[in-house]
Amino acid sequence: MQLISIVVPVYNEQENVRYFYQEVRKYMDPLEYLYELIFVDDGSTDDTPRIIEQITQQDVRVSAVILARNFGHQIALTCGLDYAKGDAVITMDGDMQHPPEMLPILLRKWEEGFEVVQTIRSDTQGVSWFKRYTSSMFYRLINVMSNIHINEGGSDFRLMDHKVVETFLRFKERARFIRGLIGDLGYRQTFIEFVAPQRHAGKSKFSLKKMLTFAIDGITSFSKVPLRIALYAGLLLGMMSFLLTLNVVYTKLFTAEAVPGWATLAVSVLLLGGLQLLVVGIIGEYIGRIFEEVKQRPLYWVSDELRSGVKSVAKERIKHVG
Ligand code: UDP
Ligand code: MG
Repeated sequence: MQLISIVVPVYNEQENVRYFYQEVRKYMDPLEYLYELIFVDDGSTDDTPRIIEQITQQDVRVSAVILARNFGHQIALTCGLDYAKGDAVITMDGDMQHPPEMLPILLRKWEEGFEVVQTIRSDTQGVSWFKRYTSSMFYRLINVMSNIHINEGGSDFRLMDHKVVETFLRFKERARFIRGLIGDLGYRQTFIEFVAPQRHAGKSKFSLKKMLTFAIDGITSFSKVPLRIALYAGLLLGMMSFLLTLNVVYTKLFTAEAVPGWATLAVSVLLLGGLQLLVVGIIGEYIGRIFEEVKQRPLYWVSDELRSGVKSVAKERIKHVG
C-alpha cells in the first residue's frame, strides 16, 4: 500500500490542531492508503506542542517536529518535507483554511498521474478588503517582473509526488517562495480551485510585516527587474537633460529671455535625490539577501522530535541541517 505524508506547519494553533487532526482522520481513514501526519511546530508559545504531543501518543501515524524557535511558514514547511517519507506528500495549513475534505480529490488527481496537484483559492471567506487587494496587486506585480507565472490565489496547499519533493529539497536557498519554486520545477502539474473558509479559531499569524517580507522574498528571488530600475531611470533622465540643454542653449543664443526655472531646479534635485536613494535601497535589498545566503546557516534547527509520544532529541540527520 502507498504511504501518504501530510505536512502541517503550525504556529500557536492550540484551538485548531485537535479539530484539524480529527477532520483529517475523517477524510483519510476511509481511503485505501497508509498515511502519516507530520506537524511542524514553528516555535509556538502557547499549548500547541503539548496538544500535538498528546496526539502523537494516541496515534502512531502522527509525528511532530518541534522547531527551536519561530522560523516562518515557508521554512517550517520545508522542514516537514525533509521528514516526509510518503510516496506522495501533501502540505496544508492547520487552521482549516485548507479544507481536509479536499484530500481525496488531491489524491485522485495523483492517481490519474499528475505529479503536482496545486490548489488555487478562488475566494477566501472573511478576508479583509485590504488583504484581498494587496494580494492581487502582488501577484500582478510578480508576474510582470519575473519570467515565472504564479496564479493569483496560489496557496501552499498542494500534493507533490515524492520525486518532486526530492527535487525541491535540493534547492537550498533561505529566502524561499515555495509556490514559485514548485511551479517552475516542471513535472506534470494540475490545478484545482477551492474556496478557503474562514480559519477555524484564532487569528492569522501573518502580520503585515510577515506578509511584506514574503512578498519581497517572492519578487527578489524570481526577478532582477528591480535592479534595472536605475538603468532605465538613468537613460530616461539622461535623455530629458539632453533635450533641456538644447532648450537652454537655444534660449540663450536666439532669444532675449533669461532661462527661467529655479523651481524646476529645486524639484529636479529632490526627484534625483529620491530616485538615487530608492535605487540604493533596492540594491541594498539584494545585497542583504546575498549576505544572508552566503552565510550558509542551517535553514532551521529542531528541539524535539515526537513519534508515538517518544521524545527524542533531534539528530543531525536532516538534509537541510547538514
Ligand atoms: N504558520 C507557521 N509559522 C508562521 C506563521 C504561520 O507555521 O510564522 C502556520 C500557521 O499556524 C498556519 C499556516 O502557517 O497553519 C498559515 O498561517 P495563517 O493561517 O496564519 O496564514 P493566512 O491563512 O492568514 O494567510
Ligand atoms: Mg490561515
